[in-house]
This record gives sequence, C-alpha cells and structure tokens, in this order.
Amino acid sequence: MKTPLIIKHFLAEGLVGESPLLTITDPFTSDIGAYVVEGDHDTVNRAVMHAQIVQKEIAHIPTYQRAQILQRVGVELLNRKEEVAEGMALLTGKTIREARTEVDRSADILVLSGEEARRNEGLTLPADALPSGRGRVAFTIRVPVGVVVGITAFNAPLSIACHKVGPSFAAGNATILKPDPRGAFAGVVLAELFAAAGAPAGSVQVVQGGAKTGEALVRHTGVDLVNFTGSTRAGEAIISMAGLKRVLLELGGNAATIVHHDADLKSCIEPIAQAAFGLAGQSCISLQRLFVHESIYERFVLTLVDRASHLRVGSPFDPSTDVGPLVSDEAAERLQEWIDQAVAAGARLLCGGQRTGRLFPPTILEQPPVDQKIVCEEVFGPVVSIFPYREINEAIGATNASRFGLQAGVFTASLDVALRVAYQMEVGGVIVNGPSRYRLDHLPYGGVKRSGIGREGPRFAIEDMTHVKTVVMSPAGGWGV
Ligand code: NAD
Repeated sequence: MKTPLIIKHFLAEGLVGESPLLTITDPFTSDIGAYVVEGDHDTVNRAVMHAQIVQKEIAHIPTYQRAQILQRVGVELLNRKEEVAEGMALLTGKTIREARTEVDRSADILVLSGEEARRNEGLTLPADALPSGRGRVAFTIRVPVGVVVGITAFNAPLSIACHKVGPSFAAGNATILKPDPRGAFAGVVLAELFAAAGAPAGSVQVVQGGAKTGEALVRHTGVDLVNFTGSTRAGEAIISMAGLKRVLLELGGNAATIVHHDADLKSCIEPIAQAAFGLAGQSCISLQRLFVHESIYERFVLTLVDRASHLRVGSPFDPSTDVGPLVSDEAAERLQEWIDQAVAAGARLLCGGQRTGRLFPPTILEQPPVDQKIVCEEVFGPVVSIFPYREINEAIGATNASRFGLQAGVFTASLDVALRVAYQMEVGGVIVNGPSRYRLDHLPYGGVKRSGIGREGPRFAIEDMTHVKTVVMSPAGGWGV
C-alpha cells in the first residue's frame, strides 16, 4: 500500500490547512489514497478576500502577458504529466491511459485559453441608427466579471478545472476552485503551476472540501460568478442558493446514439464500444441509449456484444485495462439495483450485468421499458440499452424523450438523415458519424434541458465570464449635435 497523499488548500499564501480531513479511498484497492483538508467558512472568507484584491491586479495585466502565462502553465503541466495522471488514476479509478489523455487535453485547454484571451473583442455599433445617436460613436468592450468560483466533478478533475480556470484567467478574473475531493490533487497542481508561471499570488486558489464548502462559496456575496460541473441535483441546489450571481451549469445526461441502416458497421463498432464503456461509463456524454435500425439490428448487436465481451476490466494502473472500477460502493450498488430492476421489468441481458465489488463488466441490455431508471436517469456506469427502430423520426423522438439534452451521435451515409438529426435533436451538440462521447475542447460544449446552462470552450466561456460594457462617445462640446 502506498503512503496516502495529504492534500491541502492552496490559497494566496501557498499550501495551508491541517484539519479536518476527508478520507479518500482508492476505488480499485479500497486502500486509503488520500486525506484532503476540508474548508470552513473562515477558509472560504480568506480565499474570497484575496481573490477580490488580486483580481484588480489580474485585470491590469496586459492581454499578451496573460496569454503567455497560460501558455507556460500548459507546457509545464505536460512536464508533470505522469505524476498528475497517476494521482487521478489513484483517486478516481480512471485508467492510466485515460488519465494521460486527460492531461494532454488539459494542456491544450490552457494554451487555447491563452490564444482566446487575445481575441476578447468588442463591437463597433452604428450609434446613428437612431436620431439621438447622430454624430456619436458607440462600441463595446468586454470586462472581467471579478471573482469566479469553479466547482468541479470527480470524473475528469483536471480537464474540467482547466475549462474553468483557463478562460477565467484569460478574461482577467481571479478564480477559486473547489474540486471534488477526488480531484483535490489535480486542483493543487494547477494552482502551483499558475503561481510558478508568474500569475499574481492568489490568481488561482483552491479551497478543498465537499458539498458544504461548495455551498459556502456559492452563497458568498463576494463571488461574482459560479461555474459548476456536476450532477443535475447539485446544479439545482446551486442555482437556488446563488442569489444575484451569474451561474453556469454543466450537468448530467443520458446520451443517445443512432445507427442508421446505411451506416458503415465495421467502423462504428469500436467508437460505440469506447463511448459506452470507456471511463467505465462515468462521463456526462457516455453512450447510454443506442437506437439501431431494424434491418441491421441483429448483426449489429452480435458484433457489439462480441466487442464488449472482449474489453478488459481491471486495475486502472494496468495499461491494458479498458474499463476501470466505479468510483464508490454506493455508485456500484445503485447501478446493480438499476440493472436488476430493468431485467425484472423485461429487459434482456445480452452481456455483463453482474458486478464484482466496484468492477462492472461492459453491460448491454435489450429493450428495457423506457420508464426504467437505466434508461431515463443518468446511468454513469458501463451500461448501454439498445433499441431497434424502423423510421428515423421514431429514433429522434425516442432520443428527445429525455429530461436531459447534452450531446448525441448518429451514424449514417445520408446527408438528409444527418441534417434531420442535427436540426431536430434536443441537445447541445450532435456528432455525425461518431458517438455521443466526443469532444474537441475549443468548440462550444454544454447542454439544454436539465443538462445545463452556458457553454464551455475557451472562446465561449470567456464570453460568459465577462460583462459587455457599452461606450458612447460624442465630440467634445458636441453633445447637442
Ligand atoms: P456531484 O454533483 O456530486 O458533485 C460535483 C461537485 O459539486 C463536487 O465538487 C461536490 O463537492 C460539489 N457539490 C455537491 N453538492 C453541492 C452543493 N449543494 N453546493 C455546492 N457544491 C456541491 O457530481 P459528481 O458525482 O462529482 O460528478 C458526476 C456528475 O457530474 C454527473 O452527473 C455528470 O454527468 C456530471 N458531469 C457533467 C459534465 C458536463 O460537462 N456536463 C462533466 C463532468 C461531469
């Protein structure tokens, strides 16, 4: 057993905090992986006070220097890739391969944020479009909102944090991160890198803790914007607590993908298997509901079951592992219950279905009743439900019959079908000839319905993390023109 990590807050003065401590277990071995300090009201107040002061300084750093700092943080993060990837595999259970990919993506997000800082543009507007604007000039500038709180989920602790901190710093804000305790380590590394890259002390602070600490930050009147990633339930609580703050929410989903009869079957099986079972299904856009045209249904199902049955389930640290453990006993017990309920209600279990502790084999269920939790709630595990359809409109309608709306995929050779899906699907993003779980970090990303409010992606997040200020100018002495 490795010595557990001790993870502190990172405030303007550096690493602080002794107690109380939260205990984080390794999802694979059940050993204690880390002790994380838990922030109280005093920690929260100190962090907010520092943030308010340093934000004025950040806002005056010339844009090119903010961009350079973000570039340096991105580069230095890659120098700590192995250490950060191992920390994430240990505390979240994601495989070491997946964790390394996340570090690479995170570095890109920071560098992209730096580039977007340079494009934080305003508009010039025709003041004289109305008679009272005659002789005047009008333009807008984008100004930082002030103090941004980023609250992050356990499942992608580094990349989600980078999607908050990168655009926030680029826009000239001070940021306080409140990671999920399983992402505490990733948060501290990020804050250390900002300090080392020349960002003013306190530009990025990390207050550790769970929901209670998060609530204290959300309620704090010194905070201007809350950028949250996590469950829909917590998102709803946050919006009701935030008061007069801007709130951005990246929430849950139960993503669907359609495989039409003209899809290239050979090339779609692997991405579909990865999207459903990779990350042990613990991604907000994991493929949970699969609609397959009836004419190819049997062949498709046989091939997918064969591929799923050959995926390797096991230790996150074994480079050949495809599917690691679920994050906790609670998550594994909930998922087993949902699978058993669906089978009792008439679903056919095509493979998997029985856990060993927190490890679930890739599981495929055929046609569970659509009111089963395994279909209509967020599964967050390596389980996909599969349904045949005859007409494309049926599949689109079934996909839209969800309270969530994050992302969807469609495999088809038909431009007509692709466009119909793209326009009619009630989601934040549609992937054509790819599965629901696909993301390019510079594109707008986010949900509709109960999947969220706002868009990530540095360019779009910078818009959300700035205010538009309007300037109207008249010639000196020319007010009465
Ligand atoms: P969670 O909601 O339990 O916790 C997320 C974060 O919120 C943690 O830091 C937690 O401490 C904090 N928190 C919880 N309750 C809070 C409250 N009342 N006030 C303030 N803070 C609170 O979610 P999780 O289990 O860590 O993550 C899984 C969820 O996150 C899934 O629903 C998943 O879909 C979602 N997620 C969404 C995206 C996205 O981009 N849409 C990305 C990743 C994860």
